[in-house]
Amino acid sequence: MTVHLSNPSLFRKDAFINGTWCPAAGGGRRPVHNPATGAVVAEVAECGAQDVTHAIAAAVAAQAEWRNRTGAQRQVILTRWHDLVMDNVDDLATLIVTEQGKPRAEAAGEIRYAASFLLWFAAEAMRAYGDVIPPTNPATRLSVIRQPVGVCAAITPWNFPAAMITRKAGPALAAGCAMIVKPSEDTPLTALALAELAQQAGVPAGLLQILPGDGAALGEALCASPDIRKLSFTGSTQVGRILMAQSAPTLKRLSLELGGNAPFIVFDDAHIEQAIKSAIAAKYRNAGQTCVCANRILVQDGIYDEFATRFARVVEKLRVGPGSDPDSVIGPLISAKARDKVEEHVDDAVAHGATVMCGGARDNAGELFYRPTVLRDATPAMRIAHEETFGPVAPLFRFHTEAEAIAMANDTEYGLAAYFFTRDHARAHRVAEALEYGMVGHNTGLISNEVAPFGGIKQSGMGREGSRYGMDEYMEMKYICTDIT
Ligand code: ADP
Repeated sequence: MTVHLSNPSLFRKDAFINGTWCPAAGGGRRPVHNPATGAVVAEVAECGAQDVTHAIAAAVAAQAEWRNRTGAQRQVILTRWHDLVMDNVDDLATLIVTEQGKPRAEAAGEIRYAASFLLWFAAEAMRAYGDVIPPTNPATRLSVIRQPVGVCAAITPWNFPAAMITRKAGPALAAGCAMIVKPSEDTPLTALALAELAQQAGVPAGLLQILPGDGAALGEALCASPDIRKLSFTGSTQVGRILMAQSAPTLKRLSLELGGNAPFIVFDDAHIEQAIKSAIAAKYRNAGQTCVCANRILVQDGIYDEFATRFARVVEKLRVGPGSDPDSVIGPLISAKARDKVEEHVDDAVAHGATVMCGGARDNAGELFYRPTVLRDATPAMRIAHEETFGPVAPLFRFHTEAEAIAMANDTEYGLAAYFFTRDHARAHRVAEALEYGMVGHNTGLISNEVAPFGGIKQSGMGREGSRYGMDEYMEMKYICTDIT
């Protein structure tokens, strides 16, 4: 299978090390599959520890020069990178549809979202302000400057093959750091295309490098190096724990954006139409494969039946099909393993008393397609109540009181995103403050953007991405005390 791009220079299959496209030192290659068809799309370089060593040496050299450029100079290059990404939305979306599977409109939306981080952090490059502190001793002057952390690594997932890279590389480069990216084995093509555009934008050789390959092998090599001062990871909680342990010997700074188990609470006084529309967006985007997807829908007694019936009526009409078909709303899941997990969660829920209102089965569009599903009468005894499903399944739980809803919502090891719907202002404050989550949507199911801090608490990780706080992750504070006598 070939991928048709209007700009063929974006179809890259080699690693991007020190400004050049090169095969892996060991010569290995790994196939990338189209999840909608199972076809092999490309054989991409499979990097190993030797490639990591080369990339780190190049990054150290590149960063030594880049850190001395002014914020304005970095801003110009990042803005150019943003502009090139926007000029190539169609081709980049094609790569995402092909290797990741999401519907084309969503893929194009992801590219615009990915580009927004480059533009935002281009501007932030000029605002890395320090501080002047009134001294305790009149003979001294105290100041704080902010400096780049150094060479950083990013390990990124397949569900947002573009945005999870720019959300890390944007602030890293803006702050004066170098970045080595290990993209997901499932979606390296989008990462490589972004690097091609970065190079065209004038990002110097070695400053941004892409090493496709096995997560465990490359993760270990990156963590072992004392030259890598910081690691930013988005992926599962389980792998986040491994990376944190592997980073202990070199005491790396870490940003970890891990799993979630988002509650979506609908109170009796909610605007029901708005809640349904938002639940569709929060649950079925990317076929349910985002870490902020609503995983548990908690509905208050008084509107439970009405909500369930009306919600299922909308869900059963969501069109399943390949992302390349403009009418598709629900694309394939990423892998057989992912599909099996969805099936297991549904089977387990049904075995424990849930009722399938719609969906509940694979779709004949292909091996990895699963029908959008609504389950009534979900209970905490079900796996779906505690584990991240990462698929197009909405279990509806029933609650009676506000206190019960908050307790149910917080009854999880995760703490990434939560959503709630109410028109009562006092309740809105109480609930927003009581939810143990890093992000809360009130009367909305869409909360992500480049200007707000994205991140979680508890086992969902640490650190924030996007927003002015996102720069802090890539900067160190230095305190300078001067005796003026
Ligand atoms: P998912 O289950 O959503 O694929 P993972 O956490 O397994 O999430 O994968 C996210 C990223 O982490 C991918 O780039 C993958 O290659 C990488 N990865 C997987 N296992 C490890 C590991 N042991 N060490 C470092 N990175 C890993």
